[in-house]
Amino acid sequence: PEAITVQELANRMAEKGADLVKSLFNMGMMVTVNQTIDQDTAELLVEEFGHNITRVSESDVDIDTSEDQDPEETLKPRPPVVTIMGHVDHGKTSLLDALRGANVVKGEAGGITQHIGAYQITTKNKDKITFLDTPGHAAFTQMRQRGANVTDIVILVVAADDGIMPQTIEAINHTKAAGVPMIVAINKCDKPEANPQKIRERLLEHEVVVEAMSGDVQDVEVSAKTGAGLDELIEKILLQAELMELKANPDRLADATVIEAKLDKGRGPVATVLVNRGTLKVGDVFVAGTQSGRVRALIDDRGQQIKQAGPATPVEVLGLGGVPQAGDSLTVVENEQRAREVASFRQQRETEKRTTLAPTNFDTMFSSLK
Ligand code: GDP
Ligand code: MG
Repeated sequence: PEAITVQELANRMAEKGADLVKSLFNMGMMVTVNQTIDQDTAELLVEEFGHNITRVSESDVDIDTSEDQDPEETLKPRPPVVTIMGHVDHGKTSLLDALRGANVVKGEAGGITQHIGAYQITTKNKDKITFLDTPGHAAFTQMRQRGANVTDIVILVVAADDGIMPQTIEAINHTKAAGVPMIVAINKCDKPEANPQKIRERLLEHEVVVEAMSGDVQDVEVSAKTGAGLDELIEKILLQAELMELKANPDRLADATVIEAKLDKGRGPVATVLVNRGTLKVGDVFVAGTQSGRVRALIDDRGQQIKQAGPATPVEVLGLGGVPQAGDSLTVVENEQRAREVASFRQQRETEKRTTLAPTNFDTMFSSLK
């Protein structure tokens, strides 16, 4: 980076922008806090303020939590995160609704639910399952492109009265590419014309061999309409999850992935995040993508304010400085200065990218239009 704004430099030095402007004025330069200065001038200023000059590399400033692993003994079992995919009208939304409705503990919050992009159910045996409530391949692919692999298990919904359709194949390919195990839910089995066996046979052509065909992909006949087979589907999800031994360390600073984010008229920037590990708490200072913030409130999928959220818990976060992007990671840091430092570093990097890189290829142009 050859240039930096006076304000950014001030932030990094933990000095007041106005003081830097004053010093620059004394050096004969008339600049405002929002103007950029070159590296030599920046170094002069840094010396003037008695700081040591350390040219930092990206890895010194930025945070990348993908590499550091928690010690085995800190890991505790966590709920699986499930995404539902399949062809349009095969019943993804109906299935998500049915799974939620059937399992929302009666009386809790009067059954009031709100859409926050993900929700969690508690089964009769007190097992928890998190469902991403953004069915569709675009969301899944977009998250993956941003390096966010939050899905543990994919449920492939295929309507028993229809068959393997283009988006079914697309879903199979996405799932395979992501290396995520799949459970096939053959839906609409209440319909007289339903033919689940035909679906199993057709899946063979796409190298999806279900258990009934001596393969190792679990399959289950369901009806989102009548609720038939849903308990079995939940059992299969839990069985798959058990095989995967999903674990996370709940006792550390949280890192999470942004599932959805928006600017809410009354509440400001709001993001739904899924905690990957650690426990996110009210008051935590964090950086989310290019934004920093402090958790002002946490709201769960029933619209209730909660004090903290552990691994695989979806939660709405209030207190962001701006709107992050889906797929961004939200990382809790020690203090506000650190959060601002990382956020401004990332903002600067984004600006550099935007100014130096024209749209590169048609793929990325089109995927951003979808
Ligand atoms: P999506 O596009 O995959 O989200 O599909 P939807 O959930 O919107 O369902 C498409 C249509 O199929 C709607 O009219 C649903 O009422 C209907 N549908 C979904 N599941 C079932 C089912 O199990 N049985 C029957 N008979 N209809 C269903
Ligand atoms: Mg739908």
